[in-house]
Amino acid sequence: MIEFRDVHKYYGDYHALRGITGTIRPGEFFSLLGPSGCGKTTLLRTIAGFEGISSGAVLVDGRDMAGVPANKRPTNMVFQSYAIFPHLSVEENVGFGLRKDPRSAADKARAVGEALEMVGLKGYGKRAAHALSGGQRQRVALARALILKPKVLLLDEPLSALDKKMREQMQMELIKLQRQVGITFILVTHDQEEALVMSDRIAVMFEGEIAQLADPETLYRRPNSRKVADFIGTMNFLPAKVVGETGESVEIDAAGFGRFAIAPSQVMGGKTNEGATVGFRPETLTILFDGSAPSDRETAGTIEEVVYFGDMTYYDVRIDGTETAVRISMRNVFGRPVLDIGARARVGWSAGALVLFR
Ligand code: ATP
Repeated sequence: MIEFRDVHKYYGDYHALRGITGTIRPGEFFSLLGPSGCGKTTLLRTIAGFEGISSGAVLVDGRDMAGVPANKRPTNMVFQSYAIFPHLSVEENVGFGLRKDPRSAADKARAVGEALEMVGLKGYGKRAAHALSGGQRQRVALARALILKPKVLLLDEPLSALDKKMREQMQMELIKLQRQVGITFILVTHDQEEALVMSDRIAVMFEGEIAQLADPETLYRRPNSRKVADFIGTMNFLPAKVVGETGESVEIDAAGFGRFAIAPSQVMGGKTNEGATVGFRPETLTILFDGSAPSDRETAGTIEEVVYFGDMTYYDVRIDGTETAVRISMRNVFGRPVLDIGARARVGWSAGALVLFR
């Protein structure tokens, strides 16, 4: 649906996009995720045609967009600030883009009604737009974009102004809406959780480059660098050495965890002679209590911190023989004993759950 071919963008001397290459598939919910200033909005705007590119090519539906103005592209954009007209009614806002449409007034009114129903605003047509809540305004903006039947809907942090509860609700609704209309959605967000929850695939961007483009599970379980791993949630890093290698397995020696073998698919990055690092997500480690299900492997440590989160407890545990604590997250189950700071803990882990960066 969208293809970037070695896209570069300069603002004066500033190199904002540094060779973006990648493909977004038709009907996909795709997210551009990265920290502030990494270039995700700029990249989105190059699709919309609001931003020219310095070199390379952006193709939409197989067509090179060079020289095609924004209003002639099969794309439409929903902005962070709900760009709706406060002095118009909801239906006037939604029908705004149909002003020059040759259809009859009755047909247009039907289209407006359908669009409002799609975003959950059936019956709100006569309301004044300024009298709506933030979430409702964002729905109006969505309906207004969808009524034009774009092939691609571009969403620039559309939920960032909403409070947490509302944002989570709108995330679910957007997913449903995208499945229902079946068009390609491209979302810009700096919120990792939002991207993981909503996307079929995600491009993680740092400093004008795509660091990794993959589905949420691959990004989470097999991040291709420490930087991506750290940006997508929490990961524990421990120094390790590669002590042997065959085509089928890689033998590792990691402080506190001893010697063990992993699969080559768990190894990220090219071969370097620098020290390697193993990465564990906090939930892949577990504290073993009397009566716990047996774990693949076991090590031991001392609890340094306990943080209660309601459904979860985080334990920071210094594994024997290591210098820094690892974070272990445990789901709180009724009746589970709680360990205090300073207590000894048995730690269960599995070699299949970690990644090796080198
Ligand atoms: P945020 O989440 O903060 O919006 P972003 O990843 O979307 O960040 P962009 O808005 O794409 O980042 O900006 C990328 C870089 O390009 C930033 O360093 C920004 O300052 C710079 N930039 C963006 N627009 C312009 C412009 N019109 N002129 C000069 N520099 C710009």
